[in-house]
Amino acid sequence: MGFTYTKPRDLQGQVNGKLTIPLELWHNFKIHPIAYRSLKAMEAHANKDKVALWATGIYRPYVTQVKMFNERYVDHYIKGETKSYTSRTWNGVGYYQRLGTAAAATPGTSNHGWALAADFATKTSSGGIRDVIFDPDNAGPIPNAYSWLTLCAGMYGWSWQEGRSTGEPWHWVYISGDVIPVAVLQYEGKVPPVPPPSRKPGWWSDYIGKSKATVQAFSRDWVVAYLQSVVKLAASQAVTVTGDLARGVPPIFDGATDVAVKNVQTIYKLTVDGVVGSQTWTKIDELATNFK
Ligand SMILES: [Zn+2]
Repeated sequence: MGFTYTKPRDLQGQVNGKLTIPLELWHNFKIHPIAYRSLKAMEAHANKDKVALWATGIYRPYVTQVKMFNERYVDHYIKGETKSYTSRTWNGVGYYQRLGTAAAATPGTSNHGWALAADFATKTSSGGIRDVIFDPDNAGPIPNAYSWLTLCAGMYGWSWQEGRSTGEPWHWVYISGDVIPVAVLQYEGKVPPVPPPSRKPGWWSDYIGKSKATVQAFSRDWVVAYLQSVVKLAASQAVTVTGDLARGVPPIFDGATDVAVKNVQTIYKLTVDGVVGSQTWTKIDELATNFK
């Protein structure tokens, strides 16, 4: 789907939807072991914020991809039943999507076939499972898991880029490959934890529907803590992180972190470009030493 990212090395030589590597189970869904580590950490964080993270699907074997594709696409146009143009090509044949169906990848190409895509869901107050949807005007009483993911999933290595392109708020892809995000290492106790600022339960819900500026203001303190841990990790691994952090550590520099860096730059009157150059690093270092 025009979306490229680095996959874990152990998927080299594997066939999409026919994986032979050992997979883990998260809420009974098969998942790649590295993405599983991330989800364990992310789920703990979400639970602290009163978001019951769940899924409706993760690993999708090839046969399931074929079945789903055949339910949603046909190889000829049907007036009133399919879109009028082909949107998928499979074995050299163009396919028309049935109206009213969600998109499905051409069999053998889905990120679900690598066990790296998750269709996130949340538990309702009655105990049911509901897809994560973008519903800012109707957030309560069901916690708006989409809002939470938008703010927090990036630092655990999950990207919404593909879900955004297909109009699916629930569809997220683990793009961090073999680079374990700092937030995961902290959860696992492998990086000294920086205590996050204390917040009341459900803090994030206060920011639903608020202006971007308000969200940026709220993100300042935890991002400083977060970036501090990035600095520490880089030092401990003798990694030189200069210039554009996005180039050096792409998977953890996502969404919220980008907002956060720009926020630090805004507050301290640096060039607001989201690029962590020497001035921004110096400021973050300075802030980090005060952050205990
Ligand atoms: Zn999906």
